[in-house]
Order: sequence, then C-alpha cells, then structure tokens
Amino acid sequence: MMGGAGPEWHPASKYGKVYVLRLGHRPQRDKRITIHVALVARAFGANGFILEGVCDDSIERTLSRVNRCWGGHVEYECGVKGTRYIKGWKQNSGEVIHLTMYGVPFNEVIDEIRMSPRPKLIIVGAEKVERIYYELSDYNVSIGLQPHSEVAALAIFLDRLYRGSWTNIEFHGAKLKIIPSDRGKRVEWRGEDEC
Ligand code: SAM
Repeated sequence: MMGGAGPEWHPASKYGKVYVLRLGHRPQRDKRITIHVALVARAFGANGFILEGVCDDSIERTLSRVNRCWGGHVEYECGVKGTRYIKGWKQNSGEVIHLTMYGVPFNEVIDEIRMSPRPKLIIVGAEKVERIYYELSDYNVSIGLQPHSEVAALAIFLDRLYRGSWTNIEFHGAKLKIIPSDRGKRVEWRGEDEC
C-alpha cells in the first residue's frame, strides 16, 4: 500500500513541509490559474501555498473556503519577497525545486528529491521567471521540454514525488465528502453548520 498508514497520515509529513511558492501573480490576469495552482497544491499533497509579491483576497478566500468545506489545512502566506523567502527556506535546511521547461528532465532527479528528507519548496512561475530564481534553486526541473502550464507541471511533479500516494490523504474536518458514483453526484454532508 502506498502511504495511508493512519488517520493523521499526510504525504508531506515525511518532509515536514512541502510548500508551493507562486511567483509573478497578476491579480487582474492570473486569478483563475493561481487559484488552480493553490487547489492542486492542496489536493495533491502540499501543506503550504505562498504567493510572492502581492496579496489577493480572492485567492485567500477561496483557499480557506475549500479548507473549511473539504477539510485539511494548507498554510497560506502572501506578499512575500521571493528571494528572501527562498534564502530563509534554505537556511532552515529546506531545498528548493523550480519547475521550468528549461530544467533537467524530472526523471533524472525525482528519485534523489524523493529520497532526501529535507522540506521542499516548489516554485512555479507565471510569465517570465527572473534568472535569480534559477540560480537560487537547488533543482531546476522540467516536466517535459515543451511549454505548458504551471498547474499541469505542479500536479505531475507532486504525483511523482509521492508516487501517487497523495490519493490516500484524509482531509480532516471535511464537511463535504464525495461518495464516488458511476453516475450523477453523491455528496455526504458531515457538518452541523454551513461551510
Ligand atoms: N517560459 C516559461 C518557463 O520558464 O517555463 C513558461 C511560462 S509558463 C506560462 C508558467 C509556468 O509554468 C512556468 O514558470 C513553470 O513553472 C511552469 N511550466 C510550464 N511548462 C513547464 C514545463 N514543461 N516544465 C516545468 N514547468 C513548466
């Protein structure tokens, strides 16, 4: 069995922290895709989501509503200075993995990253990522050598990091739980109050 050893089990706990740092969010243009990055981070087993440079209330509201309704907890921080955050992360023994189409193919480094017990900060960009991030990262990793999307890159990276065990996450305190169904929508309501 892949993970799922108990009710408190979470794939990030092996590393302490697996956080996603989202660079370059432009509130007017990127709301939807940044929310998708945050939702993928949560669903696929990151336990923190950090927005660089700006704060955007709609992102924070969505993430906390999803946590409230669907359970679990994702740390959220915004408006951080990216380079300072990364330096702090490394000073606390963390490692930094920047997802970019220009990087080393993930198959070449994913085993090494998985086996290292260090906390992981995964960086995804928006438009153009400044050179300094390539230099500060321990790994610049590509998910295929074609341009696509930060959402897809993050999902595949987390899936490979955890070897699929993110599917065993129990989202504690969930008020809503989906009952898988071959047709239609079945959702169990567990809370007493609204979410
Ligand atoms: N030219 C950019 C680059 O450096 O990868 C593509 C920008 S893309 C719109 C936004 C983000 O998606 C990138 O910063 C990167 O994090 C992610 N991304 C896109 N394609 C990727 C790939 N093939 N491998 C890894 N990450 C990718």
